[in-house]
Amino acid sequence: IGTLYIVATPIGNLADISERALDTLRSVDLIAAEDTRHTGKLLSHFGIKTRTFALHDHNEKQKAQQLLDWLQEGKNIALVSDAGTPLISDPGYAVVNLCRQQGAHVTPVPGACAAIAALCCSGLPTDRFQFIGFSPAKSQARQQFFKTAYESGITSIMYESTHRIMASLEDLQTVLGAEQQVVFAKELTKTYETFFSGSVAELITFLTNEPERQRGELVLMLPGKPAQTEEIPAEAKRMLELLAPEMP
Ligand code: SAM
Repeated sequence: IGTLYIVATPIGNLADISERALDTLRSVDLIAAEDTRHTGKLLSHFGIKTRTFALHDHNEKQKAQQLLDWLQEGKNIALVSDAGTPLISDPGYAVVNLCRQQGAHVTPVPGACAAIAALCCSGLPTDRFQFIGFSPAKSQARQQFFKTAYESGITSIMYESTHRIMASLEDLQTVLGAEQQVVFAKELTKTYETFFSGSVAELITFLTNEPERQRGELVLMLPGKPAQTEEIPAEAKRMLELLAPEMP
């Protein structure tokens, strides 16, 4: 039986590809790609001639069985998406799920992921965090999405598209207030990489002053709601406990 390799590719800077990713892409029998033309450019940059086939959101379920059959015939297959780690807001879930159910061998070739790259440079708590994908398209659902993310109490990381970022920030401001702190990261690993930390209102101003800043690939991060602090200070509580037996 063959192996399915889940191979991460760069999110901007081609030098981020790993040696192991290149070896894998070179040596497998087939590469399943989200967009064969896009991956074709990456492969030709590195002089890799492996055959590719399309595996995208629209045909993934049908192709999953075909891919499993090839693995069972002994073929080794690499799965890549257009950028970063496959399956992370990218195709691949149906395939990996089927392969695991059927006992096929699936192994990672890790590398870039915009969510993790953004988080580790954000200055927000990293001990507990959640990745919540893209925000919903409708305003009401989006407001609920931000509220739930905040109330989880842990750092939330989300992907945003250029055409939705301003509407998202308006909604964020509506539910959590203008002073809510956020971190915005764009064009990670590329020439115009930018980080901005501040309140939602400040970020709206930053992006409105130069609309060019709204373009490109964007990650938005939100700290979680702070844990409720004890209303009675610890020392006062201790005194109360000491005094309690004396009280009428
Ligand atoms: N699988 C990818 C990953 O591992 O990051 C994400 C794919 S998702 C379809 C594309 C989104 O990821 C973009 O809209 C943006 O939110 C984020 N993204 C991808 N590359 C990025 C980069 N270089 N800088 C900032 N965000 C990026």
